[in-house]
Amino acid sequence: MDYALVPKDDKKQALRLRRFGMALASYVLWIALGLAGYFSGVLTIDREPLLFMLGGVAVFNLMIFTVLRSGLNKRFKDPSLTLLQCLGAMCWILVLMHFSPPARDLMLMVYIMTMLFGMFQLSRRELMLLAVFSLAGYGAVLVFDDALRSASQADQTREALRYSILTAMILWSAYFGNYVGNLKQKLRKQNDSLKRAVETAVHQAERDELTRTYSRRFIMGSLDQEKARSDEENRTFSICIFDLDHFKRVNDQYGHQVGDQVLAEFTMRAGNVLRSMDQVRRRGHPMGRYGGEEFIVLLPGTGLPGAINCAERIRELTKERKFVDDIEITVSVGVSQYRPNEEIKETIRRADEALYEAKALGRNQVRAEPRLDGPQGADTHSETVLAERG
Ligand code: GH3
Ligand code: MG
Ligand code: MG
Repeated sequence: MDYALVPKDDKKQALRLRRFGMALASYVLWIALGLAGYFSGVLTIDREPLLFMLGGVAVFNLMIFTVLRSGLNKRFKDPSLTLLQCLGAMCWILVLMHFSPPARDLMLMVYIMTMLFGMFQLSRRELMLLAVFSLAGYGAVLVFDDALRSASQADQTREALRYSILTAMILWSAYFGNYVGNLKQKLRKQNDSLKRAVETAVHQAERDELTRTYSRRFIMGSLDQEKARSDEENRTFSICIFDLDHFKRVNDQYGHQVGDQVLAEFTMRAGNVLRSMDQVRRRGHPMGRYGGEEFIVLLPGTGLPGAINCAERIRELTKERKFVDDIEITVSVGVSQYRPNEEIKETIRRADEALYEAKALGRNQVRAEPRLDGPQGADTHSETVLAERG
């Protein structure tokens, strides 16, 4: 069966289980040391409590593992179960200290280790809870220790000293844990705002603010990528360059702001046409602002006829409906198809030339570069003329 102790597909759960593994390794280490002490006669404890403890620790950890590995822990407020694991460990330490007074000195160190385990994960309140629990627990062990009550003054003083040192250390680690927690929170906040800033910067670099189309830099990058992909997969693509006709007049007559609105409206209409096209829908929205009122559209996997068709639809939709302030606008388009292994600037140059001819022939039309093969003009619209150049 394909079973992993730590899930491979869930990073957070894997981290929690690794932390649990760390705690488990500590148990094993301390139990091994404890047993060595027991068999060498340094640590005295009765057999029954010893067996009870060993069994209890095993069952406790098996339960924690089951909850973590099954994912049941995700339903809890603290899915890492850190507080539960810390409290559990402290309970076992207390039980051992109760049954084996000689083990107390050593166990106080493990006590601190448990605090350290919780330090990076627990909240301030949880750390304080753990600190109070540990001090109260050790206090209870001392109160219920009959031998201590009848012990010599020196032994009692030594115990009081030990308790004071423990208190100082526990409080210190709770304070330090709190400090670490604050630092973690601050780092997380800084990280978040840095991430947001990078996202915004990337978005701003990719997008043109006015028209919501891609920036020139981005669309040129897309063209390079598409070229590489086309060369690799032996595919084709086409580009259309749109230039609004007599746009200077719009600015002169209605002002620059209205001109801006017209630009935004034009790209919105063009975007609607593009989104309604299957091949574009599949591959995203490839329209970029090439210049002031010039836009470039990348049509992946599209030959010249398909590109001309797309340009025609945008041209028609531009002319058909008036823009803001009843302004009538037309657009001229130059279309070219990528030729295998050519420089992308060659493809652009041919589309630019076709656009220039569309302007020269009276605007409001789509012109395409001459095709390399097949009858020219076979797939063209009445107002679409295939440029014939020598
Ligand atoms: P043609 O038909 O030959 O293209 O004529 P045209 O007036 O459109 O000439 P051209 O394309 O050379 O000029 C583009 C004009 O578009 C120049 C500039 O005033 C205007 N323009 C460029 N960018 C913006 C912009 O962001 N906002 C506005 N409102 N106008 C812009
Ligand atoms: Mg222009
Ligand atoms: Mg223009």
